[in-house]
Amino acid sequence: MLIFRQLFDPTSSTYTYLLGDSDSGEAVLIDPVFEHVRRDSALLRELDLELLFTLETHVHADHVTGAWLLKQRTGSRIALASASGAQGADRTLEPGEHVRFGRRHLQVRATPGHTNGCLTYVLDDECMAFTGDALLIRGCGRTDFQQGSPERLYRSVHEQILSLPAHCLLYPGHDYKGLTVTSVDEERRFNPRFGGDSNETDFAGYMNHLGLPHPKLMDVAVPANLRCGRPEGDAPLPDEPQWAPLVWTFAGLWEIQPHSLEEVGTDVQVVDVREADEFDGPLGHIAGARLIPMDELPARLTELDRARPVVTVCRSGTRSAQAAVLLAKAGLPNVANLAGGMLRWRAEGRSAEGGVA
Ligand code: FE
Repeated sequence: MLIFRQLFDPTSSTYTYLLGDSDSGEAVLIDPVFEHVRRDSALLRELDLELLFTLETHVHADHVTGAWLLKQRTGSRIALASASGAQGADRTLEPGEHVRFGRRHLQVRATPGHTNGCLTYVLDDECMAFTGDALLIRGCGRTDFQQGSPERLYRSVHEQILSLPAHCLLYPGHDYKGLTVTSVDEERRFNPRFGGDSNETDFAGYMNHLGLPHPKLMDVAVPANLRCGRPEGDAPLPDEPQWAPLVWTFAGLWEIQPHSLEEVGTDVQVVDVREADEFDGPLGHIAGARLIPMDELPARLTELDRARPVVTVCRSGTRSAQAAVLLAKAGLPNVANLAGGMLRWRAEGRSAEGGVA
């Protein structure tokens, strides 16, 4: 039986797809995200699956791939298009090749245009295809950087994707509105860029006037993805902390989600690194938090109990990320940054002392 899971990264709106064969226990992951390697490894273990390959649809500009980290954790192999230009793959893919997992396989199709190395993976029976950013639900990936070309993308989508059977389900690399799946028939009829009577010239006119901003993470993500997600330098990976479910970020620090901090409760020291007027300001502060403004932190390390974990907090999670790095460098063994800071804490309706209700 085919095992299929669609996984989501809310930060970059990226979908990761798990495909497995229950008879053999072999699986592949399409477009894993660095920060979710722990989640994905846990799911593989719980479903009794062995990860054979991580497959990239392309070199992403908006998130870092989990390919390298999954290889370290699970022994999986990294595969992506030979046309991608990335270093560190175990297998480079050419159009027409098959990637096998158990008795099933994905067929590799070249769908350049968003980037040079874009691939679409089509399941053996053509009932599902994974289009990356070549075709999104009622949209498509941009064509204005990373060797993008509207003309190439138009041809790729028509020749390699919309030519699949009408009932074939299409799973995109992203969706920003919460949509999860579409079909060849739907996109042929309703995609405003490719559907109806649009031709290559109409499409290029549309794509060349999108006026999109530069992606925030591009300068970090593209170089990292050209190394298949291997961090720079040879720093060993830290051991998995046991005191809370944490996520190791590509930026090199542990992060804790607000609900997890609430669950670990009083076992941790919450250090709020904002200024005093912010601590007592409209956002309030977490009950029991100790106020040590960022500027004072290096001189006040002795106030902290090294035997207990520390969670750093600020308004948005940015200053406190710096604080977490500083504390870890100072030798504190268990430090994590509160993801999203007080803004997310309050947005999620969690209780605070002081502040505006
Ligand atoms: Fe992309």
